[in-house]
Amino acid sequence: MRIANHVVDLVGNTPLVKLNSVVKPGSGLVAAKVEYLNPGGSSKDRIAAGMVDAAEASGELKPGGTIVEPTSGNTGVGLALVAQQRGYKCVFVCPDKVGEDKRNVLKAYGAEVVVCPTAVPPEHPDSYYNVSDRLVREIEGAWKPNQYANPAGPQSHYETTGPEIWRDTDGKVTHFVAGVGTGGTITGTGRYLKEISGGKVKVVGVDPEGSVYSGGTGRPYLVEGVGEDFWPAAYDPSIPDEIIAVSDADSFDMTRRLAREDGLLVGGSCGMAVVAALRVAEREGPDAVVVVLLPDGGRGYMAKIFNDKWMSSYGFLRSTLDGKAAGEPL
Ligand code: PMP
Repeated sequence: MRIANHVVDLVGNTPLVKLNSVVKPGSGLVAAKVEYLNPGGSSKDRIAAGMVDAAEASGELKPGGTIVEPTSGNTGVGLALVAQQRGYKCVFVCPDKVGEDKRNVLKAYGAEVVVCPTAVPPEHPDSYYNVSDRLVREIEGAWKPNQYANPAGPQSHYETTGPEIWRDTDGKVTHFVAGVGTGGTITGTGRYLKEISGGKVKVVGVDPEGSVYSGGTGRPYLVEGVGEDFWPAAYDPSIPDEIIAVSDADSFDMTRRLAREDGLLVGGSCGMAVVAALRVAEREGPDAVVVVLLPDGGRGYMAKIFNDKWMSSYGFLRSTLDGKAAGEPL
């Protein structure tokens, strides 16, 4: 019988699907790697399993231990799944700007959630960073994965995401496009694809306008999960051949088009990555095979990207969910 032993065994091997409606005629093939089909709903399931495996092997995480990580979203879900399977406890620290729905998702998986005030400076004892560090010191058997610096993050993309893309394109992929947050996805996947192709595959990182990867200073942007105001150790700047910056307005408009026209209800960083992938596919022409990674699904963004009033309040609304051209602010 073809029955998985545990949901964690279902992580990875996500499919590639051709983008159709959003791609301009004359462009190369654009294939989306649909990471919301992982059991926890995002690409972060991959690094959760990888980081826990490495910590067990090194002895940093011992039986009955507690995983403590500042995370409000996808990484927390991935870690909670692995923790359930292997009998660890999870404590996630998140800022109070994170909505109740997102916190409840983590609790539903059995994690404890500690909420910190957003309106305090990083050096304040109640800040997001200081609270998680204090919990690690106070809880016996605590281990902090630290996805921004943990080499097991990029390594899991090197071992899984990269080989899957090479296999599923029969080695014909010419460009790999992904958003950059911690940098783990682009670093691990990009490194594998460059090595196996002898440097032929070009790697394109994408970040929100204002973030450091494309030369910004950390100016605020609304797309979630990508862009930074510092350089994480998980990111190897020698891997991308190019970084493309995309505005919030373009990212969110494309996110809505993907749901409406190509049947993919995905998150805002997916729309962002697709905007860049389409630019590459148009520029490179019909022989290009561009693979773009879509990190998560759209259900977590219904109150924002898929809400006309929210979109309008930031001036992002180009057409309503009913498909009408947006006129005056709602
Ligand atoms: N999109 C979303 C929604 C994410 O949560 C993340 C992870 N922070 C990324 C993109 C970027 O992935 P990475 O951290 O591997 O650069």
